[in-house]
Amino acid sequence: MTQWVYAFGGGSADGDASARNLLGGKGANLAEMAKLGLPVPPGFTLTTDVCTAYYDKGQTYPEDLAAQVDEALSALEVKVGKVFGDASNPLLVSVRSGARASMPGMMDTVLNLGLNDETVEGLAALSGDRRFALDSYRRFITMYSDVVLGVSHSIFEELLEQYKEDHDYQLDTELCADDWAHLIGDYKKAVQKALGKPFPTDPREQLWGAISAVFASWMNDRANTYRRLHDIPASWGTAVNVQAMVFGNMGDSSATGVAFTRDPSTGDTGYYGEFLINAQGEDVVAGIRTPQCLTIAMREKMGDTQPSMEEALPEVYAQLIAVFDKLERHYRDMQDIEFTVEQGRLWMLQTRNGKRTARAALKIACDMAEEGLITEEEAILRVDPAALDQLLHPTIDENAPRDVIAKGLPASPGAACGKVVFDSDEAEHLASLGEKVILVRVETSPEDIHGMHAAQAIVTARGGMTSHAAVVARGMGRPCVSGAGEIKINAVEKTLITRGRTIRAGDILTVDGATGEVLMGEAKMIKPELTGNFAQLMGWADKVRRLGVRTNAETPADVQTAKEFGAEGIGLCRTEHMFFDADRIAAVREMILSDDQDGRIAALAKILPMQRNDFVEIFRIMGDLPCTIRLLDPPLHEFLPHTEDDVKAVSAATGISASALMERAHALNETNPMLGHRGCRLGITFPEIYEMQARAIFEAQALVEKETGVKPVAEVMIPLVATAKELEILKVRIAAIADEVAGEAGVKPEYLIGTMIELPRAALRAGDIAEHAQFFSFGTNDLTQTTFGLSRDDAGKFLGSYLEAGIFEKDPFVSLDQDGVGDLVRIGAERGRAAREGLKLGICGEHGGDPASIRFCEQIGLDYVSCSPYRVPIARLAAAQAALQNK
Ligand code: ADP
Ligand code: MG
Ligand code: MG
Repeated sequence: MTQWVYAFGGGSADGDASARNLLGGKGANLAEMAKLGLPVPPGFTLTTDVCTAYYDKGQTYPEDLAAQVDEALSALEVKVGKVFGDASNPLLVSVRSGARASMPGMMDTVLNLGLNDETVEGLAALSGDRRFALDSYRRFITMYSDVVLGVSHSIFEELLEQYKEDHDYQLDTELCADDWAHLIGDYKKAVQKALGKPFPTDPREQLWGAISAVFASWMNDRANTYRRLHDIPASWGTAVNVQAMVFGNMGDSSATGVAFTRDPSTGDTGYYGEFLINAQGEDVVAGIRTPQCLTIAMREKMGDTQPSMEEALPEVYAQLIAVFDKLERHYRDMQDIEFTVEQGRLWMLQTRNGKRTARAALKIACDMAEEGLITEEEAILRVDPAALDQLLHPTIDENAPRDVIAKGLPASPGAACGKVVFDSDEAEHLASLGEKVILVRVETSPEDIHGMHAAQAIVTARGGMTSHAAVVARGMGRPCVSGAGEIKINAVEKTLITRGRTIRAGDILTVDGATGEVLMGEAKMIKPELTGNFAQLMGWADKVRRLGVRTNAETPADVQTAKEFGAEGIGLCRTEHMFFDADRIAAVREMILSDDQDGRIAALAKILPMQRNDFVEIFRIMGDLPCTIRLLDPPLHEFLPHTEDDVKAVSAATGISASALMERAHALNETNPMLGHRGCRLGITFPEIYEMQARAIFEAQALVEKETGVKPVAEVMIPLVATAKELEILKVRIAAIADEVAGEAGVKPEYLIGTMIELPRAALRAGDIAEHAQFFSFGTNDLTQTTFGLSRDDAGKFLGSYLEAGIFEKDPFVSLDQDGVGDLVRIGAERGRAAREGLKLGICGEHGGDPASIRFCEQIGLDYVSCSPYRVPIARLAAAQAALQNK
């Protein structure tokens, strides 16, 4: 026989916290608290299996369920010493839903079930308080009608408001017993009118009505939506808890409240919560009356004038905090607790691990490890790496007022404010004068890099979470709101219009990259705090992780930031970003537009010292940490002059006519540049480009070594290799340059030559390629594009529909597609290592900062992950968690 019903209360229970899947979170914890000997009103739980069986069998209950419920109800009557439906000594119950995971989409709780015109008189006589009995009854009719019968509670609220107005009452507490009796009559009439049948008076009918409503709510729209958003399978089902009522509305020594055992927003030790005297259920959160603080400390901090529970009900308060401590020690985590006090007696109604901010999560994990409640390893696992993002950037003070003028995607977290500018040169100019600016663009392109760097934050009207603006902003640690479609930009007049307001260049805005909101004016900010708990947890994480963590960075500022965040090297330094700088783009264009090798060599000679200097700065910061430098990758047309002015400037510098330049530009145009003349294909056809870059790297190494005495380590990376032959040819040329430089400078550069694996063919032929490569770095951005045949820049148009339809579970550019792209990475790693023992393996796509992808990298045994500077701490923690989970 299946046990469908599990009892709890009175110091024992059929189940416990480990039966969460069967009893739901609420039921399992009620059972656990009962077993701990805490004061829990007794009751019983109908299991999640009932729910599953109910839906499997065309919404009918298992045959033996009714008998088991009857039996449990009789046992409950004995425990409580009251009888369900009895006119003189009535047992009242609450009916509470409770799935495995807490689910706000589910049915609301029904309190005071079992009341009718007879039992209410029994309750009045028993309590000696007729007003209390009638107050409970009117609450019951309202809740049951709303939740079970589908009669909106607003009907009852309107009747109540009207009644108060007619009788000149301000507060519900002013209504006396007869007032409630009168209203209850009106309530019942309203139900009759709405449903065409009377409010159910039979307590058993009420009970089954409520139970069925809970099971029905498992499949309502709200619950379905919530489940879909939170990956909760429908097969889990919900449990139903039926529990004897205790009454917080029995006068001034009664109360109801909610509390956290530590502050959920700061993590500070000290109890945190609110309560209301003479109230029931959700009155505290419903906002009908202003709740009172739990503790004196909290009351003083909030400047509240009402007495705290510590003062108003000192004895129960002392009991309550003893329970808090017991629960925290027992669950070994911060608890979120619901309780009721009935005439001076404490009752526990719920406990669960409390939700918390990132800051609180860090503090609580560290504190609990130091208190000896949990181990350091558990502390590491307690903090969500992605949530660290909240801590790495300044954020807007939550309590500050917000004047929202537009909303887009939360593309890069953090918050910043500054003056609006509409173009990148202007942004750079103003920033150089010490102004803080917010760059607002329809969308950004590589030519905006300097403007983005100069800006405090970026807003775009178009583009998704992986648009150029979003990716670059995250890389730079700039807050960014992308795709704020309601913003209409007029670049000529230098204004933007949104929500009927006109904002001009120079107006102050605040950008909240965490919520995607753009606010008018300067909002109050809170600075990030990377010492203390943050540093402590990172230290613990570093002890257990196996994966190295490097950064994707090329500017000295970013390299410095990453190093401060704990990067152990550079995993990707993109040399082309350096080519866009205003003072060198002319030479780059000259190089591209020369139609012979001599012309190119002459132009490259101008670029060499600048490029060498870039590397000098990076090597100085990184010391002896390895730096992977990728040689030129993008198609050359990306560097071409676009405007007439640009063309004129290049023409003046090179002496080539404007029309010849245009012709040359036209010739470089490609139909599909992503798959065109780029990466190592440029290196093969224009050997002088890679030779210049290699020289710049090796010379920089020699210079820094002579200057500092520390030997820099370069990993020269060839992009877009598809065949072993490409790498073989380029490797020989680069090694020759290294020898040349060693001869000239008198010091041998320490370097490896390797390749990016970003084409499916390269992953499949990793064995051949590894013969010529000392390291592989999986370039999973391009590998995702080339494996799916999906352009990152164009995917935005349909990615949303794909995610909605469940074709993609996650955006494959954000979280690695482990089945497909991941399989290629695994194959590449295996075949590469089989061909060359000790082949160094890393990943440098956006995925290097994504915790789920990092777990995958741990599983397949890569040596390191590399991510944007602001993701380095996230990757350190995620790598530690992956190592612990992989143990
Ligand atoms: P939720 O899942 O929305 O938190 P609950 O089932 O916890 O809903 O019920 C909400 C509130 O109702 C509880 O916090 C408690 O105050 C009150 N409540 C529930 N059951 C009882 C009961 N048996 N006696 C007194 N109050 C109860
Ligand atoms: Mg609750
Ligand atoms: Mg690439």
